[in-house]
Amino acid sequence: MERVYNFAPGPSMLPLPVLEEVQRDLLCYGNTGMSVMEMSHRSKMYLDIFQETVEDLKDVMGIPEGYKVLFLQGGATAMFAAVAMNLMCGGKADYVDSGNFAHNALVEAKKYGEVNVAGSSREDNYTHIPAYTLSPDASYVHITTNNTIYGTRWSKLPETGNVPLVADMSSNILSEVYDVSRFGLIYAGAQKNVAPAGVVIVIVREDLLGHAMPITPKVMNFKEMADKDSMLNTPNCFGIYIAGRVFKWIKAQGGVAALEKVNIEKANLLYDFIDNSRLFKGTAVREDRSRMNVTFVTGDPDMDARFCKEAAAKGLVNVKGHRIVGGMRASIYNAMPIEGVRALVSFMKEFEQANA
Ligand SMILES: *Cc1c(COP(=O)(O)O)cnc(C)c1O
Repeated sequence: MERVYNFAPGPSMLPLPVLEEVQRDLLCYGNTGMSVMEMSHRSKMYLDIFQETVEDLKDVMGIPEGYKVLFLQGGATAMFAAVAMNLMCGGKADYVDSGNFAHNALVEAKKYGEVNVAGSSREDNYTHIPAYTLSPDASYVHITTNNTIYGTRWSKLPETGNVPLVADMSSNILSEVYDVSRFGLIYAGAQKNVAPAGVVIVIVREDLLGHAMPITPKVMNFKEMADKDSMLNTPNCFGIYIAGRVFKWIKAQGGVAALEKVNIEKANLLYDFIDNSRLFKGTAVREDRSRMNVTFVTGDPDMDARFCKEAAAKGLVNVKGHRIVGGMRASIYNAMPIEGVRALVSFMKEFEQANA
């Protein structure tokens, strides 16, 4: 059975060398005589894996002193609530409503404090990053750096002054270089660009810890989790281990900066073709286009469906757009090789010739 090019938005492709390494070590990790899945999270062998994973993430992302790295559970969705419970302090926060997940985040935050929708592109079907007005007295400003469903990306971060910037980076963490010191908190579900589902990464500035609402569940309390090094209870041991393998793979690729170059090249291949196509049209505003999720349509839902079906038959799978948007979406995270993007573009050309 040959592997396909999987354009799924998440869970999504993992680097093949990582899968091969995990497979090789599955029954017996190093000389431990057991699988990582079978290790106690309190054992020295597992703690070594865990610590190295934290250090490697700090390394690849250039995380400065003064930040804690946590590996939690509940996905980005749990963090929608956790961020509000830990940082809002009963006050108010600015949220930029730039997509479906951004919207879900602000709806969740409303349960714990006052939410100011600082800007929204909801009326425009989220085809662009909205203009926004920030409040000077907010506890934090929340943005979604890459909007997975609509295929848009913040190309310029907001200036928030002394107000901490909080970012949901679920679908573009480690795909481009970010200056972590610009953020108070970054969180990202792992299943798009890092690891299997079930792990969520939190990178938080230490001075923001310790102000959680009293009702905050222990496992969602960043301070309590930071004090226990993410091991207040059993973490997703195996998922974290695979994340660690992916961080090593990123280093071997030349780091995030090298991947960013390839990611730009991959996205340009698709957008250049779409922009000159007689059949396909991009759905996101040009300046705000995502490098991770490329959304496009033919304008005819039946033809879109046929495109996805014929693409799948060629080993280009999961190109169908999100059910609330329709059309197509090619998710081209770090693990998607440029050959996969070339194969997709080449099939799009073929399809266009046959149908337009
Ligand atoms: C996928 C995604 C989420 C939801 O993640 P879960 O881990 O399923 O909770 C949130 N935000 C963004 C930007 C995403 O891409």
